Amino acid sequence: MDPALSRLLRQLPAVDELLRHPRLAAPLAALPRPLAVAVIRDRLGEQRRRLVAAPPQARPPEFDLAGFLAEVAQALEAAALPSLRRVINATGVIIHTNLGRSLLAENALSQILEVASHYSNLEYDLARGERGSRHDHLEGLLKELTGCEAALVVNNNAGAVLLALNTLAQGREVIISRGQLIEIGGSFRMPEIMAASGALMKEVGTTNKTHLRDYEKAITSETAALLKVHPSNFRIVGFTREVDTPDLVALARRYDLLALEDLGSGCLLDLSPYGLEKEPTVQESLAAGLDLVLFSGDKLLGGPQAGLALGSREVVARLRQNPLTRALRPDKLTLAGLEATLRLYLEEPRALTAIPTLRLATRSLGELERQGRNLARAMKRRWGDRIKVTLKASEARVGGGSLPSASLPSRALTLELPPLAPHELEARLRQTHPPIIARLEHGALLLDLRTFEAEEHPALLSALGEVVATLPPPTAPSG
Ligand SMILES: *Cc1c(COP(=O)(O)O)cnc(C)c1O
Repeated sequence: MDPALSRLLRQLPAVDELLRHPRLAAPLAALPRPLAVAVIRDRLGEQRRRLVAAPPQARPPEFDLAGFLAEVAQALEAAALPSLRRVINATGVIIHTNLGRSLLAENALSQILEVASHYSNLEYDLARGERGSRHDHLEGLLKELTGCEAALVVNNNAGAVLLALNTLAQGREVIISRGQLIEIGGSFRMPEIMAASGALMKEVGTTNKTHLRDYEKAITSETAALLKVHPSNFRIVGFTREVDTPDLVALARRYDLLALEDLGSGCLLDLSPYGLEKEPTVQESLAAGLDLVLFSGDKLLGGPQAGLALGSREVVARLRQNPLTRALRPDKLTLAGLEATLRLYLEEPRALTAIPTLRLATRSLGELERQGRNLARAMKRRWGDRIKVTLKASEARVGGGSLPSASLPSRALTLELPPLAPHELEARLRQTHPPIIARLEHGALLLDLRTFEAEEHPALLSALGEVVATLPPPTAPSG
C-alpha cells in the first residue's frame, strides 16, 4: 500500500479512544453504548473508505481529527433522535396527512395519559364485575351527538370501509357512481378496497354526471348496496350531477338494498358560519336515512386516527360480528383520545376553541396578522438586517381530503436569508431541531401562519437560529 495512505489510516482513532474523547462526551451521554459503538464504527468505516478512494493528490497531508470528531458528534446526535418526531407545520395545510393530520385537544392528551399509565376498564363491565366490550365505551356519546342508532369504532376509515363492504356485500354487487371512484393519499383507492373486501364493484353514470336512473338500471338480484363516496379531495366543476342522498336512500328502500356513505372527513359541525365551505355533516347524512355512514377520526373531527361506522342497529350489529372487526380494533389510547375529543362536541363553542384542527381552521385574519407581526419583530430583534421578513396574504388549506376546493384565506411570512436561495433555505429548515416544514411558492419561501400558533414561536426561532448560525457573518459596514 502507498506509505502516505497507510500513515493516514494509522492516524484514524480507535473506537475506544473515541468513546473516551471529551469532544464526544455530551452526545455520547445521550446514547446507549451499543448504539454509540455502532455509529462510531460506521463513521470510521466511511472515513477509511473515503481515504482509500481519494486520488493521491486529493489526500490530506495529515488526518483531520477535529473535522472527523465534528462528523462523529453529528452522527451521534442524529442517532439519539427518535425517527418519528415533532415538526413545525408552516405549510398552511391544516390536516396534513404527511405531517400527522390532527393535533389532539388538551383533554384528549390528559385522558390518553391517564388510561395509558393505569389499568382501565377497557373490556371490563364495572357494574356487573365481568367481561365487557371495548366497543361499548363510545357508542352512547356518538348516539347523543349524531342521532345514530348504533356505532362502531375501528382503526381507521379505510378499515371501516373494508369492514363494511366485506360484511354487507361480500360476493355481491355494490353500485357506485363513476364520479366517486376516488383515490386518497395515493394508497386508498375505492376500486382496490372494494376488490379486497370481496364485494363486486358496479360503476354507473359518467365522470361528471350520474342520474338516479343510472343506479336503478344497474340493480340486479345480485345487488347488495348502493354506495355514495364523498369526493373529498377533488371537485368536478361545471356541468355535473350527482344523486342527492335522500333520493338514493329512497331507491335503496324500494329495492330492499342497503344505502351506505363514505363521508371521508367526518364533520360534526357546520363550519360555514366561520367562512369555510359547507361540508355535509355526519348528522345530515344519518338524517337522510343512510344505513351506514363511515368517516375518519383524525380529519375534520380533530381526534386520533380512527374509523367510525355509524348507522342502524342491525347493520352495526352485523359489522361487530365480522372477525375483521377484531383485526381492525382500535387500541385503548385511541378510544381514550376519541372519547375526550367527542365530549368537547357536546358544547360547540368549546369544540371550536379546544380542538386544534377546528381552532386553526377558524382563526381570524386579524389574529394571524398579529401573530405574524410579533414573529417578524422577534426575528428582526435577533438577526437585524441578516434576515428579510415580510408579512403577506396567503392561501391555506384544510387538507386531508376535507373541503377540497376551499382555500382558506391566510397570512404568511416571506423569509429571505442571504446568501441562501429560497429552495436552499427550505431544505436547511427541514434539518433543524425541530424541523420547520415551510412552503415554496413562486420561488419564495413562506411560513404560513395558519398552521402554527404563538406557542411554537420559541421553538421556531431557535430552529431558525441554527440556520443563521451556519451562515457567514454579516459584512461590516464600510466607512
Ligand atoms: C380519508 C378518506 C378515507 C380514508 O380514511 P383513513 O382514516 O385515512 O383510513 C376514505 N374515504 C374517504 C372519502 C376519505 O376522504
